Parts: sequence; structure tokens; C-alpha cells
Amino acid sequence: MTYDKSIFINGTWRDLKETETVYNPATLEPVAKVAYGGKAETEEAIAAALKAFKTWREMTGRERSGILYKAHELMLEDAERLGEILTTEQGKPLKEAIGEVKGAASFLLWYAEEASRTYGEWIPSSARSKRLLVIPQPVGVVGAITPWNFPASMITRKIAPALAAGCTVVLKPAPETPLSAIEIVRILEKAGMPSGVVNLVTGDAEAIGNTMLTSKDVRLITFTGSTEVGKHLMRESADHVKKLSLELGGHAPIIVFDDADIDKAVSLALASKFRNNGQTCICANRVYVHEAVKQTFNQKLTEKVAQLKIGDGLAEGTDLGPLINEQAVQKVQVHLEDAAAKGASIVSGGEKWNGGMAGHFYQPTILSEVTDDMLVMNEETFGPLMPVQTFRDEDVAVAKANDTDYGLAAYIFTETTSRAIRVAEKLEYGIVGVNDVFPAAAEAPFGGIKQSGVGKEGGHHGMDEFLEKKYVTIGMED
Ligand code: NAP
Repeated sequence: MTYDKSIFINGTWRDLKETETVYNPATLEPVAKVAYGGKAETEEAIAAALKAFKTWREMTGRERSGILYKAHELMLEDAERLGEILTTEQGKPLKEAIGEVKGAASFLLWYAEEASRTYGEWIPSSARSKRLLVIPQPVGVVGAITPWNFPASMITRKIAPALAAGCTVVLKPAPETPLSAIEIVRILEKAGMPSGVVNLVTGDAEAIGNTMLTSKDVRLITFTGSTEVGKHLMRESADHVKKLSLELGGHAPIIVFDDADIDKAVSLALASKFRNNGQTCICANRVYVHEAVKQTFNQKLTEKVAQLKIGDGLAEGTDLGPLINEQAVQKVQVHLEDAAAKGASIVSGGEKWNGGMAGHFYQPTILSEVTDDMLVMNEETFGPLMPVQTFRDEDVAVAKANDTDYGLAAYIFTETTSRAIRVAEKLEYGIVGVNDVFPAAAEAPFGGIKQSGVGKEGGHHGMDEFLEKKYVTIGMED
């Protein structure tokens, strides 16, 4: 693949002598080399974004939306090729990758529609002689930092609302998956994005991040990634009192009640856990099943897991691709060994997968007899490991589900409406799925509470992150 020039500043693609190699996690073969940028490139990108902000913000919402509509169209037209690139650098099965590209495009469409709907407010004053207005205005230059697990949708979920709101952007993608980012920026360029509005710097995370953090011209940092890095960004943003939008880690519980449709619960639990090989911030990390349905649930779950096909994401019929790197495999192994040492039973899987491929594969694994002190019940595994515990009492299940510093997504399976509402209200999570494990949608506010983040992405709420609300008070003549 040709990515000679991967840094995009003020409308120009550049290369650098220093490069970084992108590998295919299924084969461990090199795929491309991209420029390894740092402080100097980030400073230039911020300066370009600041200059472009002056004119981009003055354009009407309708003018800005025209470019986003075009980008949406171009992305959909190219979804299959983009999906192949995504699978090659990230590993997920091609059908999931194409689905992600289409999902990524849906954010461009939604925010193209929203661009001309940034309404203000007219507040009735308590004084006759005054008029009070609220005007939404773009925040300014945005620093966007994205992870490797959803290399396309995590980018458009940030930059589409930023651009629609009238902000300009400096984007830093994850080093494992810069190619999808380059392709998205190429699409925006082709769609007619003016120079400097979107800038891309691949390279040294710390140098790029620190330059964004120490620049007073970057007014907002929008980040998706680990809670640890999110906390670092939060601390270091204090000097300039930057706005922050943080989408961080999760530790999602699934609660299967005794009145659940078990076939549906099994299929959806599997889809939640093993989509993207468990490398999803909202994927099920622990499952609580009511004692009365435990046997049926476990039996059906084991049968279905046995049918999952591991392999190269580009191969026909693959359900589970590789993990992103060796560290990810190690984390799964550590969680498994810790659980086994503390008494868990390995119901299926439990080993690295060796199907004649060099990549980072692990078998889809189910654990039973798990206890609350096990690592897997307390930390994000980010891999294909599913611990199943039983419960008898609704309140106990809810208390266990809430007993974590994370608060991104939680799921419940029940056919009783009043229980669904009661439990959804009690769960301390930003997102609750009732008989649904696919909550992400361009039109809905996605985001965590507690240590899973601040702010929302998606819907009109996602646009609010990129808008300041200016209050204007007008004294009237009598
Ligand atoms: P990560 O290690 O936090 O990295 C995320 C991004 O931050 C990467 O581009 C990384 O670049 C960069 N980064 C790291 N240190 C930085 C610094 N000091 N300054 C600026 N940038 C820095 O997370 P990850 O392993 O890529 O992603 C997995 C995590 O993301 C999981 O915890 C997952 O739950 C979370 N996630 C959350 C959501 C959500 O919506 N809440 C969605 C997806 C993923 P380098 O790799 O070069 O360091």
C-alpha cells in the first residue's frame, strides 16, 4: 500500500525521514511505513488550524454541511476498499470492518444534517429593559486523539461534529492504525475541505500530545482511549483550562434474568463479547446469569462458541481475527491464569490459537465458577475472555454490576418491562442496553460516567461538546 506521505498540514501531504512501520496483526507482515512526526509538525498543524478557524467558523452551517455530505458519499462508495485497509492494519473480520466504515460514514451524514441546526436561545428577561440571548459558537482549534480498536468510526465520531460546529482539527491517530486515518483525511480533502481545517500528524504520541496540551491555541482535547491516558490529559490540560471530551475504558456487565429469552441472550452476549475479538470499550467483560437459567444459558453458550471461526480477518467466514499485539495476548493469559489459580473452570478455549498463522490469536474462552476477587471481574480484559457468574437476587446482581470505577455500558436481558426500567435506572452507567448490545448510533449520545469519561459523542449532544454558549445581554432604551 502506498502511504509515502502521511502528515497533512495546511492542505499539503508530507513525508519525513523518520518513519514507523504498520504491521498486519494476523500475519505480522509489514503493511506500510508512515511518517513519525512530533513537536514541530504538531506546532505547524496547530498554527494552520488556528488560521483556518477564522474563515471556517464564518461559513454558514449549510456551506460546511455540503462538504460533510460529499465526504459521506465518498466514504460509502469506497466502503469495501476502506474495510480491507482497516482489516489489514487492525485485524477485525472484513464484514465488521466494512460495517465500521459504514458506521463511520453515518457520523458524517448526521453532522452534515446538524451543521445548520445549532440553535441559540432567547431568554425572557425578568427586567423589562433587557433582552437576553444565548449564541452557540465554535470552541476553536480541537486536538483529536484516537485509538486503534475502531480506527475509522472513532475519528468521524469526533471530527464530524467538530467540523459541523465550525471548529478546526489536528488529528493524531493510533500508531497501529494510521492508514484508516489517512484515508479519511484524503476523503475530506477530495470532498473540498479548505486547507488547514483538518490536519493530521502521525508519530510520537507524547510529543504530539504534549504540544497540543501546552498550546494555548488548542481549546479542546477530544480523546478516546484508556482511562490512564485520559487522566494524564485531564491533569495536563489544567494550565490552559482546556475543554475536554473523554471516552475512556469500560468494564461492562451483562445481567441475564430468569425471564430472559435465553436464545436471544446467548446470541447477543456472544456478539457483545467477541465482536472485534473483545477489543471494544463497551463489550461484555463479565456476565451474571440467574441461577434458574444458568444451565441452559451455559450449554447454549458453549455450543455457539465452538462454532466461532478464528483466522485472518480477510478470509471468508472469519468470526474472530487476531488481537492487536502480543501485549494484548499476554493480558488475556494473565487474566485466565489468575482466574484458574483462584478456582475458575475453563469451559471452552483457554489457549493461544495456532492455526498456522504468525499473528496474535487467542481462542474464544468461557470461564465459570468465577469469584469477585479475580482480575477478570475487576479489570478491562480487552480480549476474548468471558467469565460467567450466577446470582439469585436482583439487587445483588445490580450491586455487583455497579461495584466498579468504570461506568460506560451495561446490558440486561429480561422480557419484563418494569424490571427493565427499574434496573436500567439503578445501573450506574452512561449507556444501558436492554435486550440490545449495539448501542452506538450517530443520532444517540454515547459516553461514560465515573472513570469511563466525560462528555458525549453522537446526536445533538455530541455537537454541544464543540460549541461554547455565549450569553449576550442587551440593555434597551425606554
Ligand atoms: P491508549 O493507550 O490510551 O491510546 C489511545 C491513544 O492515545 C493512542 O493514539 C495513543 O498513542 C495516544 N496516547 C497515549 N499516550 C498519550 C499521551 N501521553 N499524549 C497523547 N496521546 C497519547 O488506548 P488504546 O490502547 O489505544 O485503546 C484502548 C482503550 O480505549 C481501552 O481502554 C478502551 O476501553 C478505550 N476505548 C474507549 C472508547 C469509548 O468510547 N469510551 C472507545 C474505544 C476505546 P500511542 O499508542 O502512540 O501511545
